[in-house]
Amino acid sequence: MDNITGLLKSLKKTPQLLRVNLRTNLFLLKYFGKFKIKKINNDYILHSHLPPINSPAYTKFVDQHLIKNISGPSHAQIGLTNACPQKCSYCYNKIRSGEAMDNDTIINCINELGKMGVTWLGLTGGEPLLNKNIVEIIDQTDKDIAIKLFTTGCTLTRQKALDMKKAGLTYVSVSLDSSREEDHDHARGYKNAFKEALRGIEIFLNAGLHTSVSTVLTKEMMNQERMLEFLEFLENLGVHEAWLSEVKPSSEYFWHKEFVISRDETDFLIKLQDQYNKKDGMTINYLGHFEHGSHFGCNAGIKMLYIDAFGEVSPCVFAPITFGNVRDMPIPAIFEAMTKHFQPDRECFMNKNYPIIKKHYRNISPIPAEDALAILEEVRHTGIPDFNRIQGGKS
Ligand code: SF4
Repeated sequence: MDNITGLLKSLKKTPQLLRVNLRTNLFLLKYFGKFKIKKINNDYILHSHLPPINSPAYTKFVDQHLIKNISGPSHAQIGLTNACPQKCSYCYNKIRSGEAMDNDTIINCINELGKMGVTWLGLTGGEPLLNKNIVEIIDQTDKDIAIKLFTTGCTLTRQKALDMKKAGLTYVSVSLDSSREEDHDHARGYKNAFKEALRGIEIFLNAGLHTSVSTVLTKEMMNQERMLEFLEFLENLGVHEAWLSEVKPSSEYFWHKEFVISRDETDFLIKLQDQYNKKDGMTINYLGHFEHGSHFGCNAGIKMLYIDAFGEVSPCVFAPITFGNVRDMPIPAIFEAMTKHFQPDRECFMNKNYPIIKKHYRNISPIPAEDALAILEEVRHTGIPDFNRIQGGKS
C-alpha cells in the first residue's frame, strides 16, 4: 500500500492531527517518509515502536503527547518475569533480583501507566511467555495502549499465539541475533535458541500477528556484508520488521569503550536503514535511528520508563538505576521523582554515561535512588533533539 492511503486512514481515525502544530506535523511527515506504511490485518503500521497509526493508541498519542504535551511517559516496558532459559551475555536484567510482582500488581501497574499517558507498552522479561498469566495481562490492558511482546519464542504454542492475538497483542518481536545458527546459540548461551526462534517466528506469522525479529548487534555484525546477509535471511523468513539495537553498556562487563557503539557505526546503521526502507518488503527499525538527535532523541525517564519484574522503576530497560519500587510508592510519585533529573537528549543516556555509572557502582543492581542521584549530578546534557526543539515542552 502507499503511504498517502495510510496517512489518510490515520487522519480519518484521528482528525485532531490537524490541531497538531504545523511544524510538528511537517517533521512527522518527513520522518514517516523514511518508511513504507504496511497494512497488517486492519492495522496501518509505520514501525513497531509507534502504535498503528489508525489505532486508539495513536489517537491517544496525538491527543496527549502532540497536542496537550503532557509530562507523562508515552512509552513503557514491564518485566513479566525474570526467569529465562537463555543466558545472553548482554542481558540487561540478569543481575537484577528480588521478589517477583504477582499478576494483580502487574495489571495495576499497566493500568496506572495507561492513566499516566502510556500508549506503547513492551512486555519483556526474562522470557515473558514463562508468565502463565500473559494472556490475561494482555486482555486486561486498555485498548488505547499498543502492546509489543519481546520473546525468545521458547514454550510458544500455536494456541498461545492465537490467544494473545485475540486478547489484543499488537506486535511481537522474536530475538534473533544472527542468520548463523552457531553464532545465535553462542550469543544466547543456549543450544536450541536459533531453532526455537525460527519456530516462534513461523507460529506468530501463521497466527497473523505483526512479527519482527529483535536483534542485538555485536561489533562483528556492523558491516555491509554481514548486515546484508542477515537482512536477506530475514526477508526470506517473511518477517515484517527487523528491530535492531546495538549491545548497550547496561552491565559491568560492557562498561568499556571498545564495546560501545561508535558514531561511525551508528551512522552506518542509520544510512543502511534509510536506503533499505526505500524498497518494498521488510522494514528496518534501528532504535538508534528513532532515538537519533535528528529525530526523537533519548527520552529515558521522560517519555520512557521501565518497571522490572520485581517492581523497580528505571528510566529505561538499559539503565541499571531505580527510583523506587511500585510496592512502596505510587508509580506517578516515582516517575515525578525521576523525571525532574532527566531531559530529552541527542545522545543515548547509557551509551554516553556508562563511565559515570561504572564509577558509582557498588555491586547492587539496579543502583538505588540515592546513588542514582549522585550519578545524575555528573551527567552533562548533549543538546535538544530536533523533535523537542520543534515541539517544545520539556527541554
Ligand atoms: S538510554 Fe538509550 S536505549 Fe534508553 S531510552 Fe535513551 S536512547 Fe533509548
